[in-house]
Amino acid sequence: MNQNEFRKNAHQIVDWIADYWENIESLPVKAQVEPFEIYKQLPATAPDSGESFEAIMTDFQQIIVKGMTHWQHPAFMAYFPANSSAPSVLAEMLTAAMGAQGMIWQTSPAVAELEQRMMEWLADLCGLPKDWHGVIQDTASTATLCAILTARERKTNFKINTQGFENQSFTLYCSTETHSSIDKAVRIAGLGSDNLQKIAVDDRFAMIAENLEKRIIEDLQNDKTPLCVIASIGTTSSTAVDPLREIAEICTKYGIWLHVDAAFAGSAAILPEKRWILEGLEHADSYVFNPHKWLFTNFDCTAYYVKDKGILLKTFEILPEYLKTPLDKVVNNYRDWGVQLGRRFRSLKLWFVMRSFGAEGLRSKIREHLRLADIFKAKLAADKRFEILAPVEFNLVCFRYLPENEDNTEKINLANEQLLAKLNATGKVYLTHTKLKGIYTIRAVFGQTNVSEKQVELLWNLLQEFC
Ligand SMILES: *Cc1c(COP(=O)(O)O)cnc(C)c1O
Repeated sequence: MNQNEFRKNAHQIVDWIADYWENIESLPVKAQVEPFEIYKQLPATAPDSGESFEAIMTDFQQIIVKGMTHWQHPAFMAYFPANSSAPSVLAEMLTAAMGAQGMIWQTSPAVAELEQRMMEWLADLCGLPKDWHGVIQDTASTATLCAILTARERKTNFKINTQGFENQSFTLYCSTETHSSIDKAVRIAGLGSDNLQKIAVDDRFAMIAENLEKRIIEDLQNDKTPLCVIASIGTTSSTAVDPLREIAEICTKYGIWLHVDAAFAGSAAILPEKRWILEGLEHADSYVFNPHKWLFTNFDCTAYYVKDKGILLKTFEILPEYLKTPLDKVVNNYRDWGVQLGRRFRSLKLWFVMRSFGAEGLRSKIREHLRLADIFKAKLAADKRFEILAPVEFNLVCFRYLPENEDNTEKINLANEQLLAKLNATGKVYLTHTKLKGIYTIRAVFGQTNVSEKQVELLWNLLQEFC
């Protein structure tokens, strides 16, 4: 593809994207394909000679798009969103075009310095502690792994990094509602998932701080070394908010690393009225949230913040001769701030998004999503056929349908499983489920960039039809 062809094809792709977004509501939200339906249409080997752009584009439209679940569809209410926006996509084009690798300052000073500035902007927008330092990671899973490794090294005076494990018996703590990425990070860090203590939750699905302290005392009495507590602000099942201040006090008292996982709900902290969710954060050690979930910045872009930058760097820094530069003491070399060496230029899309929306624009979007959840919640609350199963702290509503004259939990669970399948089979909405206290729970998240009252009505009307 020469420059002229690129120019022509790129214009065509931008037109395709604009048409796609414009007409996205005519597509089924969830891909309506069978396993291997796509795979079987793809040749077994790569072509010997180059094919035309037209041929590639035709197959993209006919084969690939059919097998896509449309995460940017406004009626995408499943999981948590991975929402995007036009400025974010435009920045990604530039990132791809320049193809820079931001492992150290010298490999592209603008990549390092824009990242530093964007992490400051985000911290300011969210009211994070002023002296904390931020770095962009690929995912919250990676950020949490970094937190746990850093906690491990702080506790052992950086001995496991150099000497490996001896006979230590570390314990870690999170609530029973915590995200699976914590379990995974504990495994990868070599700490053993049996040592991850799951603390019970209250009727709002938030960690019971008193139980946490009891468990820590018990573990200390049994010669264990409590290493890290992971508090969740916005759990994945129901967006429950753990009592951060109380947990932080316990962590301070026993010298335990406190990592705060606000992967999804952290975006809400840009609203002054939601700032309370981070009360006590200044006593924690690390914090993660995902602009790639609910801040209009397309996947991937995770913001990871630490109180003590020195411990993070000491955990990850390895300085081979070929990467040494005279400026190492002066600038941020982000390869030392996490697992990866090579790094994408992710801050560019954050810059485009924050400048294009403006802080007010971002706030009004998030506020609108909270309002939509409230509208839907009110509809459910006013109708005896439905039950709301968790407090609506943000823009997720957890609910179930109560079939008439039915009080058998298993049968109600089954009815809701069937209801969810029917909703999704329409192709008009896409929702997913969880279990809360053994109850099959339908989750409706109003977080896609362009979701509006129209989608709330749509979902409500479908429920009328099926219930
Ligand atoms: C989504 C989510 C994660 C994992 O996020 P990734 O960026 O996909 O790794 C972790 N914790 C919570 C609470 C989440 O909602």
